[in-house]
Amino acid sequence: MSQQNILEVRGLKKYFEAGRPRLFSRSTRRVHAVDGVSLDLRKSEVIALVGESGCGKSTLSLLLMGLEDPTEGRIIFEGRDITHLNDAQRKGLRRKIQMVFQDPYESLNPTQTIEEIVAEPLQVHGLATSRQVTDEKVKKAMEDAGLKPAEVYLKRHPHELSGGQRQRVVIAAALVLEPEILLADEPVSMLDVSIRAEIINLLAELRITRKIAVIFITHDLGSVGFFADRVAVMYLGRIVEIGTMLDVLERPQHPYTKALISVIPVPNPRLRHERTILQGETPNPIDLPTGCRFHPRCPVAIAICKASDPSFVTLSKTHQAACLLLVK
Ligand code: SF4
Repeated sequence: MSQQNILEVRGLKKYFEAGRPRLFSRSTRRVHAVDGVSLDLRKSEVIALVGESGCGKSTLSLLLMGLEDPTEGRIIFEGRDITHLNDAQRKGLRRKIQMVFQDPYESLNPTQTIEEIVAEPLQVHGLATSRQVTDEKVKKAMEDAGLKPAEVYLKRHPHELSGGQRQRVVIAAALVLEPEILLADEPVSMLDVSIRAEIINLLAELRITRKIAVIFITHDLGSVGFFADRVAVMYLGRIVEIGTMLDVLERPQHPYTKALISVIPVPNPRLRHERTILQGETPNPIDLPTGCRFHPRCPVAIAICKASDPSFVTLSKTHQAACLLLVK
């Protein structure tokens, strides 16, 4: 494991059983939710994981959290293989990898006060050693999450807060355990547009002040902005392109990435460009297309794309060059 990497993912796959195609058939159909993902995450790095609904990005985050067992592949955290841990072993790890869910309305218990919500993870992990330690940690986590001064919010209930404040409570409940990695699954998609930038700025601050690495999962490439260090684009269970934020946004290689970028709204009408609207729906992850799985929707597909699949695309080659390699 590289000294710099806090997390390494190698060839990760998650297939779900989807029943038999016909009565008495022996074969079982499988949903290829995550299908050979490899990824490195460095300390305090922000990676944006981008793709349409159903591309596998949320399943990938559940695998990283240990909430799903992978079908194949390895997950290495701080040099330790954590792919198949039992519940007791995983409990210590959960402290270090925390998740921020999409819906701050659903993920908070309406009967608890904010103080109880943020203190609960400390109790679950046996870290609430004294009232004073708990109070200090809760207040610090809340203030680091932007709920300042914490005393104003401690005795309130979730329904007394705005959507943005609720999401800050969710983040505080993750921060209180002093995690190394935050997995933020669409953390702003349920919030008003005016609040989204505040939450993204908060995550950007935390990676500096708390040296936390962030995996920011989103379907909206436009929200990645200048926040992420790197961007990984997923399509049908695979990462089809990964690179620095500037490289991916300004010099995208994969036709899918190009199409996603082309539909990001541009406020200045002089800078507007032609939009690439992908035709058709994302194929069913049970019956994957032959060859390159993007070929039914790819605007530059060639005949060979139906038969051969480039397993991944590196930044050192253009995608078309990768395709030409296939032709040879
Ligand atoms: Fe398009 Fe072919 Fe490249 Fe797939 S391999 S993205 S179909 S050009």
